[in-house]
Amino acid sequence: MKTIDTNSLVRENIKRLKSYSSARDEFETKNETMIFLDANENPFDTGVNRYPDPLQLQLKNKLATMKGITASEILLGNGSDEVLDLLLRVFCEPNQDNIITLPPTYGMYKVLAEINALENREVVLTSDYQPNVEQILKIIDNRTKIIFLCSPNNPTGNSFSEKNILEILNQFQGIVVVDEAYIDFSTQESWLKKRKQYPNLVIVQTLSKAYGMAGIRLGIAYASTEIITLLNKIKPPYNINIQTQKIALDKLNNLEIIQNEINAIIESKVTLLKVLDSVKWIAEIYPTDANFVLIKVDNATLRYQQLLEKRIVIRNRSSDFGCENCLRITIGTKEENEYLIDVLQKI
Ligand SMILES: *Cc1c(COP(=O)(O)O)cnc(C)c1O
Repeated sequence: MKTIDTNSLVRENIKRLKSYSSARDEFETKNETMIFLDANENPFDTGVNRYPDPLQLQLKNKLATMKGITASEILLGNGSDEVLDLLLRVFCEPNQDNIITLPPTYGMYKVLAEINALENREVVLTSDYQPNVEQILKIIDNRTKIIFLCSPNNPTGNSFSEKNILEILNQFQGIVVVDEAYIDFSTQESWLKKRKQYPNLVIVQTLSKAYGMAGIRLGIAYASTEIITLLNKIKPPYNINIQTQKIALDKLNNLEIIQNEINAIIESKVTLLKVLDSVKWIAEIYPTDANFVLIKVDNATLRYQQLLEKRIVIRNRSSDFGCENCLRITIGTKEENEYLIDVLQKI
């Protein structure tokens, strides 16, 4: 097992911080019906008149059982974007510390670094879209706090090799965030099972993609209890609203439906990939472990426009580093996929 001194990575002001204590944190109940006159709420029951559970224990217990971990290893955020922002704010001192990201990758890491006044050290992926471990290790200094690895990666779609991720986890003394937004579509295993061996590992997942709940905004961090405690210390007390907690719990109690949807998406992806192979203006189809596929075409602007004229909206990723003339296509329903295939073949 790796040892790291998590506390030495934390910003001084966060170490000193005494966090906000919300009304419902200040007592313990024994399951009696309490009369709540403590939070200045409106007492008339509408289902949403009370503040939500700040620690979302019911939902966390559900996730903990699903994943075979404990609730104290889970932090929930208003989308992964909040989770990522909280990580930066716990560990990275504005105008001093730096993070490492690996473009082409998810655009939010860079935006969040800028918002938090952090230097974003970019180490571009190799030509087969893998982390350039040698360069990453070279660029680390004593102010490098977090390395963001997105696997499967957005927008390229591929997973990073286990060997590359392990090497970074082993060599780096800061926090390694593995963003697994697309893990449920992947053939690779989650890094969750490695969290005990690597106390510097934070796994970020979301209900926005495979779980079909982008609209309720629920992102998840899995990490050591030590790291989760730090994140809890600075999170907005009521960051996950009642509706989100309720809808998430209901859907997670029906995992079969979600699994069927994932299977259908993967099936459509396989069908689409075969067709893409035969479209003349598509120069390259990149390996995908996600619910989208990145393709290189002859003229991305033209092809994007042609699809738009047929009411199909995809993403032009041409301006991303290493993605010249690349388009990213999300896998839709079977019917949407059939229509897309028809359009692609006619263009
Ligand atoms: C879509 C996506 C997310 C999800 O963000 P949410 O805020 O949870 O909706 C996170 N990371 C990556 C790489 C993504 O592509």
